[in-house]
Amino acid sequence: MTSPIWHPFHQHGLKEPIPLVSHADGAAVYTNDGRRIIDAISSWWVTTHGHCHPRIMSAVREQTEKLDQLIFAGWTHQPAEDLAAELVRILPRPLNHVFFSDSGSTSVEVALKMALGYFVNRGDARHRILVLEHSYHGDTIGSMSVGARGVFNRAYAPLLFDVETIPFPVTGSEQATLDALEYACALGDAAAFIVEPLILGAGGMLVYSPAVLAEMRAICEVHGVLFIADEVMTAWGRTGTLLACEQANVVPDILCLSKGLTGGSLPLAVTIATPAIFDAHYSTDRALQFFHSSSYTGNAIACAAANANLAIWREEPVLVRISDLAARQSANFKKLADHPGIANPRQLGTIVAMDITAKEAGYLSELGPHLKAAFTASDILLRPLGNTVYVMPPYCIDDHDLALIYDTIFAVVDEL
Ligand SMILES: *Cc1c(COP(=O)(O)O)cnc(C)c1O
Repeated sequence: MTSPIWHPFHQHGLKEPIPLVSHADGAAVYTNDGRRIIDAISSWWVTTHGHCHPRIMSAVREQTEKLDQLIFAGWTHQPAEDLAAELVRILPRPLNHVFFSDSGSTSVEVALKMALGYFVNRGDARHRILVLEHSYHGDTIGSMSVGARGVFNRAYAPLLFDVETIPFPVTGSEQATLDALEYACALGDAAAFIVEPLILGAGGMLVYSPAVLAEMRAICEVHGVLFIADEVMTAWGRTGTLLACEQANVVPDILCLSKGLTGGSLPLAVTIATPAIFDAHYSTDRALQFFHSSSYTGNAIACAAANANLAIWREEPVLVRISDLAARQSANFKKLADHPGIANPRQLGTIVAMDITAKEAGYLSELGPHLKAAFTASDILLRPLGNTVYVMPPYCIDDHDLALIYDTIFAVVDEL
């Protein structure tokens, strides 16, 4: 019995088993054949409070009785109004124009189009985009263009637009990054610089300091280059604060949010811009409006889920849970960090990452799939990035499950 499903980032020819999941609860997913699997990566970085959170599920149920989906070009509904107002209330000023879409990739496409539109509409057509080395911003053509090039996008390379890549701020060599950014900005044709603040996710959980983030933002500001923060992974407490940018006192010109926006329950994204960017599109001339939409823009059920997530943030001690998880992650991680099979142990907030030392590295090396299979066999959902193993669990994970994750990593690394 073969399934007609073509899975993402999956080589069907290797015939690796594909677990069939029937339900999920908190930090675990359950398979049809009765296994309880600990979700150590929040189902690819989306689940924040836990799977099937009662408040979010109940808000979704309630919304399905009222309104499902509505054309959003020139129409509106209360769940979207409430969500936009609450986002503006909790986000730093002057981020106050909320544009809806449905995935992290589209939120990045929207950000890039906003930046280009801003310059064109002001009669100062800049179109060069600056990016940080090793970045990941999504899998559509535009978001791939601003991300790292490699085996993931080699087939599409001829279609990707040219960008200027600024070297990653490796500890000790930060000045090279700042110099390269200063040089690129000073050329005068850069529209925007897009960054993942403080930690590059898909690039291998690479961490850099808030001081560098602040300096990069300052350089862009001096040269009028728009600063786009892609917080699709880093927001909603993952790094210890609501936004990673907060730790550097940075307010971007454009902010991308998705993954944890609905608590990880439904697809939804927002791109939030400052008045300067909105105003550049504000006119009585329709030709200057922002030309972007997708059919499900501002889906009412997804907005209701996001409103429930924001209510949880407003009414429950979420940041306390996050700092508690960060401390528990750190305590568990300590037991492992000295293992000779582990290099570059690192932590940012609730995220812990380490490199498994092996003869060959890189995404396609046999190590990653071997580790993944070993973890799955132990009922732990972990999906290493090449030889980088990271633990990014939902905030509700208990001590027992967390310890089990680290015991399993220890055993698997020990065996190598
Ligand atoms: C996951 C991710 C994206 C893409 O989001 P999708 O919803 O998968 O399209 C973009 N940027 C960052 C930083 C991400 O981690």
